[in-house]
Amino acid sequence: MTEKVRVRFAPSPTGGLHIGGLRTALFNYLFAKKHGGDFILRIEDTDQTRFVDGAEEYIEEALNWAGIPYDEGPNKAGDFGPYRQSERKDSYAAYVNTLVEKGAAYYAFDTPESLDFHRTDHESKGKTFIYNAHNRLKLDNSLSLSKEETASKIEAGTPYVVRFKTPENTSITTSDIIRGSVSFKTDTLDDKVLFKSDGMPTYHLANVVDDHLMEISHVIRGEEWLPSLALHIQLYQAFGWEAPKFAHLPLIMKPTGKGKLSKRDGEKGGFPVFPLAWLNSDRI
Ligand code: GLU
Repeated sequence: MTEKVRVRFAPSPTGGLHIGGLRTALFNYLFAKKHGGDFILRIEDTDQTRFVDGAEEYIEEALNWAGIPYDEGPNKAGDFGPYRQSERKDSYAAYVNTLVEKGAAYYAFDTPESLDFHRTDHESKGKTFIYNAHNRLKLDNSLSLSKEETASKIEAGTPYVVRFKTPENTSITTSDIIRGSVSFKTDTLDDKVLFKSDGMPTYHLANVVDDHLMEISHVIRGEEWLPSLALHIQLYQAFGWEAPKFAHLPLIMKPTGKGKLSKRDGEKGGFPVFPLAWLNSDRI
């Protein structure tokens, strides 16, 4: 491998670290050490509504307990900090603006009530509402409104989100180190929210921007993130950045073999799911 290997473990501090998360961290650590690379801990805490007190400390303790120290992270300065996304908050707006200017993203003003209405209306007709090329021009956004209308809404402080403009009728093909070639049809994807008017990015935007800025060479994460890969690849393309290599790990399954092991399976089955006792377990 010629490039410097830099991998990251990027948990959200939303509860105790599940054994599956620790396993993902271990794969990252072992891969980094095998290639003389760096293992980074990045705390993805942009969704303040899901923030749980003590979860970040628990993550640190669990990594220490497992003997997998990080080379850069919240408590170990490196050249790519800060390593908590809430502390990088001010950097994301400029990136989302670039996407809007390039025409790869747009402002949307739809209220939660209006989106609920569309969802219910579609359901009553046996359909699924997807915010995408099929209906975005009928909704309340900068593609359906004039430039002046959009500008005056923003000026008036109307709450908005920025959505990614998923191209119509296209197939995205990329490769995954474990799965080989993977393809997604864009018609099945919705225009995901990238940024909210509270000034916070969503997971997708912050994750891609930070992987790029932190010069992450390989993204090794659980398979539940594979569906997000289609958007992430498109974001790298829209920014004109080279994407890292991806490896989506198979998940630890429930004892029945159906579905991924959940935090609650341990309580039901009487086996440990947390590497260390998580005393706030009523909050997960
Ligand atoms: N913050 C995400 C999580 O909680 C990270 C997913 C990824 O590694 O891209 O798992």
